[in-house]
Amino acid sequence: MSKRLVRLMAVLFAAALLLLPPGGPAAQTRPPARNVIILIGDGMGPSQFGAAWIFSNRALKKDLHMAELMKNGRTAYLVNDTADAIVTESAAAAGQIATGQRMVALTLSMAADRKTPVKTIMEMAREAKLATGLVTTSGITDATPAAFAAHAAIRSDEESVADQELKFGAEVLMGGRRQFFLPESAGGKRNDGRNLLKEAQKAGYTVVGTAEELRAAPDGKILGLFNMGNMSYEIDRAATAEPSLAEMAGSALRILSKNERGFFVMIEGGRIDHAAHRNDAPAAIRDTLAFDEAVGVAMDFVKMNPSTLLIVTADHETGGMALIGNSKKSEGYVGMNLEAIQKAKASFEWMAAKWGRNPTPERIREVVRQALEIDLTDNEARTVADDTIRKLDPYNFSSDYVHSLGFVLRPYLRVGWGSQTHTASPLFLFGSGPGSEKIGGLMHNTEIFTVMKAALGLK
Ligand SMILES: [Zn+2]
Repeated sequence: MSKRLVRLMAVLFAAALLLLPPGGPAAQTRPPARNVIILIGDGMGPSQFGAAWIFSNRALKKDLHMAELMKNGRTAYLVNDTADAIVTESAAAAGQIATGQRMVALTLSMAADRKTPVKTIMEMAREAKLATGLVTTSGITDATPAAFAAHAAIRSDEESVADQELKFGAEVLMGGRRQFFLPESAGGKRNDGRNLLKEAQKAGYTVVGTAEELRAAPDGKILGLFNMGNMSYEIDRAATAEPSLAEMAGSALRILSKNERGFFVMIEGGRIDHAAHRNDAPAAIRDTLAFDEAVGVAMDFVKMNPSTLLIVTADHETGGMALIGNSKKSEGYVGMNLEAIQKAKASFEWMAAKWGRNPTPERIREVVRQALEIDLTDNEARTVADDTIRKLDPYNFSSDYVHSLGFVLRPYLRVGWGSQTHTASPLFLFGSGPGSEKIGGLMHNTEIFTVMKAALGLK
């Protein structure tokens, strides 16, 4: 072999080495994503999304972060039927997203026998030494977060869920329902006398209860429980010491990203669902916008940390929300009353608590005027005081007063509701980052698990 040929071959060999990924051939098997952030808008169907989009663009003069994700990332139409039902609830839906298997209603990540735990994506992530976190505005022991870190035959076993979540050892746990961490003697709902807040501190958690404490907390393991019950609706939050979902998301991402191996986090807008259950359009829209702000925080994180799979979706639609057209006076379509939604100062739940049991029509008029700046007619106020809608259809409308209020407000707000319950309406699934190439077309929510698992290269 001539010297020239040897030199040429050496040059070619060096060039080939340069083409290999850093770290040599083994690096090729590295998973595409280091982190997974999944945001779930509980009860956020296409109309909740659409209402927030219209309100944000027309009243607030800015687009939704979710719309940006839709444009620049990938979008699928998502269906969510379960092992035993066409219409799902949050436990089965979250279990299906967390495990990839069809679930039966009300169980938390259990096989159909309601006894055999099915391993969740968050358990797999922990086994792979990733940091893990759960954040919600509902209870941290409520079905959506619970299905990722706990297993139970029935979702209402929240004492067990609280215990399991702490034993799981997630680095970040934030939300409401502190009552399931405290014994009855301390105003909580635990029958076993245990004080899980004290146990959490012993296990290395910083326990916080207000937005201020959250801001001052060190970057270690954190248990944030900001309300004895659910956290407040966004529309009522200004009067509280609670952080926003976006603030919680920001803290969670800062803490979790300290882990060099990466992380998995589920962030839930938990109260869109609760507002929709009460047929409360202004509260549902405000909570959807608060969820969208958290999506914005996640998108900013992704810009700095591109090896992150970001997924935004919903578990189911709630209420059969309808963006109806006509006002009292209009001859043609006018659509949602943006001004009235913007003026709304309190949730229906706040209003019902304010007027109490057996309110007079006059009291109802007063409270509605105070909270919504809307003047109901005597007839409308009487429909609410008599709770006419609940009496007509108690199977679909069973809460006191709020559904009758939602009904009489239809021509004022131009939002209608088909029910107080969940519906089988298809949903959206948005994604960006490594692994999101598999998102598109019509997907079932069990496939979200497959996308996340493949992205993290989990076994
Ligand atoms: Zn619900």
